[in-house]
Amino acid sequence: MTRLLLALSLLFTLAGPLHAQRAPNAPAEDGPTNVILMIPDGFGPASVTMARDFLRWRDGTTELPYDSLHVGSSRTFSAKSRITDSAAGGTALATGVKTYNGAIAVDTTKRPVGTLLEGAQRQGLATGLVATSRITHATPAVFSSHVPDRDQENEIARQQLNKEIDVLLGGGRRHFLPETMANSARNDERNLFETARRKGYQIVETANELSQTNTAPLLGLFSDGHMAYEIDRDQTQQPSLATMTETAIDALSDTREGYFLMVEGSRIDHAGHANDAAAHLHDIFAFNEAVNVALDAAHRDENTLVVIVSDHETGGLTLGRNRNGEGIYSWHPDALADVTASSAAIADSIRAHRSSNADPTTVRQRIADTLTRLTGVSDLSDERLDRLVDVEGKYTLGKAVSPIVNREALVGWTSHAHTAVDVSLYAYGPGANRFVGNHDNTYVSEALADLLDLNLTSVTEALRTTEASE
Ligand SMILES: [Zn+2]
Repeated sequence: MTRLLLALSLLFTLAGPLHAQRAPNAPAEDGPTNVILMIPDGFGPASVTMARDFLRWRDGTTELPYDSLHVGSSRTFSAKSRITDSAAGGTALATGVKTYNGAIAVDTTKRPVGTLLEGAQRQGLATGLVATSRITHATPAVFSSHVPDRDQENEIARQQLNKEIDVLLGGGRRHFLPETMANSARNDERNLFETARRKGYQIVETANELSQTNTAPLLGLFSDGHMAYEIDRDQTQQPSLATMTETAIDALSDTREGYFLMVEGSRIDHAGHANDAAAHLHDIFAFNEAVNVALDAAHRDENTLVVIVSDHETGGLTLGRNRNGEGIYSWHPDALADVTASSAAIADSIRAHRSSNADPTTVRQRIADTLTRLTGVSDLSDERLDRLVDVEGKYTLGKAVSPIVNREALVGWTSHAHTAVDVSLYAYGPGANRFVGNHDNTYVSEALADLLDLNLTSVTEALRTTEASE
């Protein structure tokens, strides 16, 4: 009897945690056919509250698409820094390996490490990358290339096209054009659009062209650099993140049995760097629409696991701040509703006024009017207006615009860089329970590899064998 009880209690102890936090090397009897890994870059805990509070103020919406899928949180530190950059943070998510800031899917000794995308390809899955940054930027790069420095975007582009990835959608044409062509950032004669064509890729460059296709292989590059902030986006030129996600899912579903897709809401992070609350908010909403598209697909086929996790927080965003030295128990989402352009775009308009030939008083008035028109702020202090008239430097003007809105909204930022706080982790679909809890960012990759039955160690070995023979 005692022995039976012991056995039962042992069984219970062993079985208890299984549904919550199975070790990553446990067998994946409940594995998904498809995985959509969604990375809202620079999306911290306060970003979630900001988006939800704004919607509740605007139309009474109380839930974000992923609120009910919240399963835990992720620690983001890199191998060499308590504060990660997107390269090291992304490498951890893509490969399960902690590395130094700036590293693109290489370890601390700068040797390549296998990625989820590469593992998925070896397993015969279709693969895709979707981003609103340059497709060669850190987060998409860590899934599809191996270089010691994230700035080697020309080499990243070359490697991406050598990988036979089924769908690539984002910005960054400049790294695919030969140096002789306008707007190229390459320093060689390689025309990677030609390479892509030879490999059978269909190439699209506008929202309209994208709307007319949903088959792989597909290369869609919609801007020379990053795609526009959602708040500034010309919808006739650039597709939304949701549309890109939908096209990618359609194309990948038709290509092979099973797919791995990474979708990045890239510019949430850039708005954080700029401390631009309104641009941050609109890129979060664009990301949310893409999440809805992914969740719709997952609901339809019941074989798709959707995991949503950021690589780090950006900007040290918080809601509520002192004004005139005094703490206030409030923040004002309505102040963000009046903003209709990013701080970067407003800075461009101001720059245009500053370089006009009008007399200084007129220029000053035009700058004040532009600011009021695009942000809704009308009672600008002389001191702040002086800065808009005089401040120098490419990004400095944008950084002079953002605080004007932040002060109205009672939104605070502590940094123009990333911060160390944990970020939220969400999951839906087969295997979602594997993500319950507070995990290191490397765990996300380990659990996904396990659920898809990928062997990233053997991918790493194969990469190093190739490297040695080159
Ligand atoms: Zn990032």
